[in-house]
Amino acid sequence: MISVIVCAAGRGARAGFSRNKLLEECNGLPLLAHTLSAFSGQADEILVTCSEEDEAAIGAIIRTFPHARTVRGGATRGESVKNALAAVRGEIVLVHDGARPFVSPKVIGDCIESVRAFGSGVCALPATDTTVIARDGQIVSTPDREEVFTVQTPQGFYTEELRLAYERAGERVFTDESSLFAAYVRPPRLFPGDRANRKLTYPEDFRFAERVGFGVDTHAFGEGDHILLGGVKIPSERGLIAHSDGDVLAHAVTDALLSAAGLKDIGTYFPDTDPAYAGADSMQLLGTALTLAEEKGYRVKNLSVSVLAETPRLAPYIDAIRASLASALSLPPDGAAVAAGTNEKLGYVGEGKGITVYAMLLLCGK
Ligand code: MG
Repeated sequence: MISVIVCAAGRGARAGFSRNKLLEECNGLPLLAHTLSAFSGQADEILVTCSEEDEAAIGAIIRTFPHARTVRGGATRGESVKNALAAVRGEIVLVHDGARPFVSPKVIGDCIESVRAFGSGVCALPATDTTVIARDGQIVSTPDREEVFTVQTPQGFYTEELRLAYERAGERVFTDESSLFAAYVRPPRLFPGDRANRKLTYPEDFRFAERVGFGVDTHAFGEGDHILLGGVKIPSERGLIAHSDGDVLAHAVTDALLSAAGLKDIGTYFPDTDPAYAGADSMQLLGTALTLAEEKGYRVKNLSVSVLAETPRLAPYIDAIRASLASALSLPPDGAAVAAGTNEKLGYVGEGKGITVYAMLLLCGK
């Protein structure tokens, strides 16, 4: 029987979130759920250490994993693992950092194999940077890089031996089980880790969550003497027919944004049958959509827009449209690109009946 202890009792304050970083989402799932999925196929039980504060939130996540349950964590990582070890039923136990959600089933399988073959299995990578021993800001020695490894998790052991190591360590604090095991049992065996199995520690480690979105909108020409594109007023012989202000470009971008965030389309949030949106400022609606995406933990990385219109001539307004979009989406000046062209007199655009806008947008973690 294989047991897994997932360390999730810390807050991960260095990541800068207001809550446990493992509750943050990646591709629509909490990070902790990614970790649990990776282990699900190979573990008979998963014990997730968690603080009292996070028990409800973590409990809700593990509900979909039948072999998982929570164990109250302690003041330190070691204390949490020790608490969990007391409840472990498996003969082999793997300890894993909850903050490594990209662990692969292969690494987990290799860890278990290593325990069976060598009595322990510690996931490690050869150092790529030169590492040094320093004191008071000065290098004391430079270990031979061939002999330097960075240690990840999972780390696997026979449960009885790991319990023994913790017993012998008493109050002494270790940063991981491999150093504890080395100090009190025997040198543990390394097996090759995986660069993707990185530990998410700092805010920049969370910028992996990229999501692309696409949006299209078309409005027909009707009455009026101007059109609005991205909030910029452009003189025109005819206006665009719309329930709102008819900003066809803002609508396409809003749909791309909502789509990237995994939300529903513009009509769901701002229905054109609702009198509240009669003549609505579409750039304001875009702002509301941005808030919805931000609430899901995203920010816009860049935007690419293509406008198809036979008239009016848009070239003189492109820079203003780009600036308006960049400002609305909190992007740097080159973050919003806008191209405009005609449709070579073909189709409804070519016949001057309306304008179509295509928008593509990339979101990333905040
Ligand atoms: Mg529209």
